[in-house]
Amino acid sequence: MSLVLHVDGDRWRGHLRATAQARPGLVPVAKGNGYGFGLARLARKAAWLGVPQIAVGTPYEVDEVATRFPDDVLVLTPWRSFDDGAIDAAHTARVIHTISSLEDLSGLLDVHANPRIVLERMTSMKRHGFTARGLRDAAVELKKHPHVRLEGASIHLPLGGPGANLAEAETLLTDLVAAGLGNGPVWVSHLSAAEVASLAASYPDTQFRQRIGTELWLGDPGALTVRAHVLDAHRVERGEVIGYRGRSVSRGGTILVVSGGTAHGIGLEAPTGEASVRARARALARGGLDAAGLARSPFTVDGKHRYFAEPPHMQASMLFLPSDVAVPDIGEVVEVRVRHTATAFDRVDIS
Ligand SMILES: *Cc1c(COP(=O)(O)O)cnc(C)c1O
Repeated sequence: MSLVLHVDGDRWRGHLRATAQARPGLVPVAKGNGYGFGLARLARKAAWLGVPQIAVGTPYEVDEVATRFPDDVLVLTPWRSFDDGAIDAAHTARVIHTISSLEDLSGLLDVHANPRIVLERMTSMKRHGFTARGLRDAAVELKKHPHVRLEGASIHLPLGGPGANLAEAETLLTDLVAAGLGNGPVWVSHLSAAEVASLAASYPDTQFRQRIGTELWLGDPGALTVRAHVLDAHRVERGEVIGYRGRSVSRGGTILVVSGGTAHGIGLEAPTGEASVRARARALARGGLDAAGLARSPFTVDGKHRYFAEPPHMQASMLFLPSDVAVPDIGEVVEVRVRHTATAFDRVDIS
């Protein structure tokens, strides 16, 4: 009974290698649920790729990655004093902190004698970072602290479409140059390979480090399949009562119980049960199952996404199959479409 991520190993590894080649200065990002693969596996894969650096989201993710990846670990979330102590002292020499304000710079210097840091410039994302002026002030302040290892600067751009981020990246680079940070490495994200090539041509002295997660780990969807097991199947007649909520089914069919529930991140979208009377009447006219207040599930049975018979349970889901659908046997598998970054798989099988 499980929700399993199946990986075509040769194809996936081929994609990882091809991405590393197409993206010079690649810094694989391993954060959160490890894009569905788990942080430990991504750390080992980054080591296998032979890149000199990996990035994690928070200080709490450093130890799990640093025990499996031999080189530098960049922490993407800017350093904050209230998270100090999250990292095992054995790893601190390999950790590079992101700094986004003068207060945090001084806070970090209070607790670390010779930290390694990257200065983050604010982008149109408005998440974290220095203004152009703040960056210059930070660079001046750092001259008083020669024991700090300033590794470079960072910009984190929004998820722009092709070409959308290049103009902003160029403007921000001007700010980095003005702060004297133009010659060190600059970490970027959400730029296409062509955009990075264009920046590299304009700034030949700058080394670009490309932080990439989604395009690297999940960029070849054909290499990834998610499957759930059929756990049970029950024939029901119209009007029969089913489920935790004692709801009656609006027509005859089969209740199919499959593995995968809220604990895995399945079905986080709200069922359409609250829809207005008019909306339901419209759906009824179309003959759709959503007329009965059902929500389409991510499970595919007999070629189609089937409806939830009721909201998913913690580790299993109850689906409704109309009478004309071929009912799979117990133990068979069905495919599931999930958001990988929000799914907790029971197992990851790499061929
Ligand atoms: C998450 C993150 C990335 C990677 O984002 P993807 O869209 O998964 O490639 C890069 N940089 C920063 C600062 C991030 O937080």
